[in-house]
Amino acid sequence: MKTQPALFISHGAPTFALEPGVAGAQLGALGRTLGKPRAVVIVSPHWQTRGAVGIGAASRPETVHDFGGFPRALYQLSYPAPGAPDVARRVQQVLADAGIRAALVEEQGLDHGAWVPLMHLFPDADVPVVQVSMPVDLDARKAYELGRALAALADEDVLVIGSGSLTHNLYEFRTGSTEEAAYAREFSQWVREAVLAGDRDRLIGSLEQAPHAQRAHPTAEHFLPLLVALGAARDVLPATVLDGGIRHGVLAMESYVFGARVDVDAAAEVA
Ligand code: ZN
Repeated sequence: MKTQPALFISHGAPTFALEPGVAGAQLGALGRTLGKPRAVVIVSPHWQTRGAVGIGAASRPETVHDFGGFPRALYQLSYPAPGAPDVARRVQQVLADAGIRAALVEEQGLDHGAWVPLMHLFPDADVPVVQVSMPVDLDARKAYELGRALAALADEDVLVIGSGSLTHNLYEFRTGSTEEAAYAREFSQWVREAVLAGDRDRLIGSLEQAPHAQRAHPTAEHFLPLLVALGAARDVLPATVLDGGIRHGVLAMESYVFGARVDVDAAAEVA
């Protein structure tokens, strides 16, 4: 069976669904280059659980519009990818093997941290999707360990995705702003260098060591999916950087492919 790389995707704001821009085009090109995996397993900070890790096991997961005050068009979007109850059970098994307690959740839909980036990555909604929750007490080390447990799935043609945002300070969010906050760029640059250097320990320590980490992430939940992806790929390198720019002044839309070098620009030209 094919071994898949693992992805960290910055999903930014829900409006990313309506305004794909550079980051959306890059994800589209990436999806075409990667081809269709057997399934996607995706972790997003918009589904958090206490106690056991939740695994979405619906055969037809609903599109959940878990946000308020956005344009009506956003609420009319749906992402009708099928679920994969068999893969969900397999997720439960690999987590159990790693000593992580997990429960299948039959009624779970896909939150916007899952369906918005997937709309760009696999626009035909033809790859089955299983969403995995983020434990409320997740920290950097545990996020990495969660990813490590999921790495077994990558060997079974499953694409593991951590969906977050490379910077995520909503207090400073400026809708539509084209001015980029220097600190967001500096933080992203530091993380990108660690990715390109293959420096796993530095990445795991990002929120303590990177410049402006506290300002880039007043809370950790949108950064931790990066460490889940890192663990799922086992090794950082080879890695691909997709620089999606900075949206709304402060949201870095940078994404990473861990475990594969992918020529995304070339793919975009072909498409
Ligand atoms: Zn989010």
